[in-house]
Amino acid sequence: MIFADAHTHSNPIKGKGMKAIAPKFKEVGGWYMSVVGLSPWHYSLEPTLEGYERSLELVLKEKKVVEENGLKSKAFFGFHPADVDKLMGLEGMTPDKVLEFGMNVMDLVEKRVKSGELDGIGEVGRQHYKTMPTHIVIANMIMDRALEIAKDYDIPIHLHLEQGGVVTALDIKKRIERLGLDWKKVIIHHARGKSLEAAVKEGLRATVPGVLGSLERAVKLEPKYMVESDHIDDPKRPGVVIYPWEMVKNQLVLLERGLVDEEYLTRINVDNVVETFGVEPP
Ligand SMILES: [Zn+2]
Repeated sequence: MIFADAHTHSNPIKGKGMKAIAPKFKEVGGWYMSVVGLSPWHYSLEPTLEGYERSLELVLKEKKVVEENGLKSKAFFGFHPADVDKLMGLEGMTPDKVLEFGMNVMDLVEKRVKSGELDGIGEVGRQHYKTMPTHIVIANMIMDRALEIAKDYDIPIHLHLEQGGVVTALDIKKRIERLGLDWKKVIIHHARGKSLEAAVKEGLRATVPGVLGSLERAVKLEPKYMVESDHIDDPKRPGVVIYPWEMVKNQLVLLERGLVDEEYLTRINVDNVVETFGVEPP
């Protein structure tokens, strides 16, 4: 059995970095990782445009480390919706300035997509917690710009959204139709429970966190989603959301219990990954 991590992070500055993570994941059968960028302050960088660009470059380097360890990988960078709130808290910031800044980060992303260095966008989307209405509007506008880039270059995009169940799924489905995107490349990240059910039902691509409780519920559905560790590689929060190798262990537990078979696991760890990220299986 081989396993894919459809959405993970790494922090070579403060955490383990891919140098330590990738070989450990390979040992348990890992074959693919989507390396998604963190915001600059996670890497001890400033929340400036330059800080975002350095962060993006770290992701490109970490992708190479994954590949050097014999795994397939794709690199993603975006503008996390929580960054809107973080930047609004800085002195002198106004909603229009934060919107303009987020759009500038998207220009940066587009430049690196165009040059072929960056493989996709992520994460962008909406806040999953209570915040000012204006902040959600800003996040929505940046997400739409990111979706346009994804459409123009036909690349995958990871969306961080509220756990809104059917409403979230319908909103994203409408955006995909409106903008003419390939649905297989739009990933509803961290979808669990009702939100995952709604995404699968509406024919959207989603990733479920590889924690046992979420997986137990997910395997009752058709194998149309993928699994993610969303590991943030933060030494202050070890194993959050889950270590990639623990995510594998949990899937094997379900196999042992007979809740899934090998064919099912191959669909979510290989077939869907090949389709969404355009990688060849080993
Ligand atoms: Zn994430």
